[in-house]
Amino acid sequence: MEARKVELVASPREPHFVGDGFRVHNFIPSGYRMDMQRMSPFIMLDYNSKYYFEPSEIPKGVGVHPHKGFETVTIAYKGKVEHHDSSGGGGVIGEGDVQWMTAGNGVLHKEFHESEWSKKGGIFQMVQLWVNLTAKDKKSSPKYQSIENAQMKRFYLPDNQGEIEVIAGKYQDVNGSASTFTPVHLMNAKLKKGANASFSFPAHYNTALLVIEGSITVNSSESVPTDHLALMSNNADDFTIQATEDTIVLVLSGEPINEPIAAHGPFVMNTRQELIQAFEEFNQGKFGYLAD
Ligand code: MN
Repeated sequence: MEARKVELVASPREPHFVGDGFRVHNFIPSGYRMDMQRMSPFIMLDYNSKYYFEPSEIPKGVGVHPHKGFETVTIAYKGKVEHHDSSGGGGVIGEGDVQWMTAGNGVLHKEFHESEWSKKGGIFQMVQLWVNLTAKDKKSSPKYQSIENAQMKRFYLPDNQGEIEVIAGKYQDVNGSASTFTPVHLMNAKLKKGANASFSFPAHYNTALLVIEGSITVNSSESVPTDHLALMSNNADDFTIQATEDTIVLVLSGEPINEPIAAHGPFVMNTRQELIQAFEEFNQGKFGYLAD
């Protein structure tokens, strides 16, 4: 049976700062033939590769800003982030933890390095992923899910070869705890050197692999080094990855949302008219209140 192919391996582009706390390589949407539709429902992926932040008494990050029409998912690999939003959601996530915020019909939030971590400084590594919502779900109320690493559901590979931490969706018989609006599979494959793991997602689900640590070979043929993203083709369901050293890979796969996308800054809607309306609502204070 034919395996799902690697369509392209994207190297990390020049990093840019989001606020003063997130030094990110943008992979989606990008010039790599990945517009917001190509990886739908994943419409944005910013990757803060390992970066040392000096100790700072004033936590670095991004101040109060709005979002509407999608979900922001933050996956922490190194360092700690503190989050607060105008719907009352918030908390601190550290190494291995995930924060899943549904902006829905509009929210204000702020994202900063956690204050004690900031005072010490250190290596910071994180992913922020935006998951689109359907027109119907863009009307839903904001929601916040915190998925602590200790509670994460795991599939253990045989012979102590590693584990798959399932954030959302399913690996084999293990279901992740995050609730999603449309089918999304999101997991960290933590593999020992030489370990193999096979994945199966419906061919039409858009799928990518981000190598966080180590390196992999996909289907015994395509090499994907650290900090690179493999965009998988939609030709088949199944593929296998092999760890060429101790490895962490973020695996994302989701059913595409086949609706028009009108996006500007922190708002992702279906039409230009809805975007204009989102700005008006924000300017009228309809996303609630959040102190600086
Ligand atoms: Mn944000």
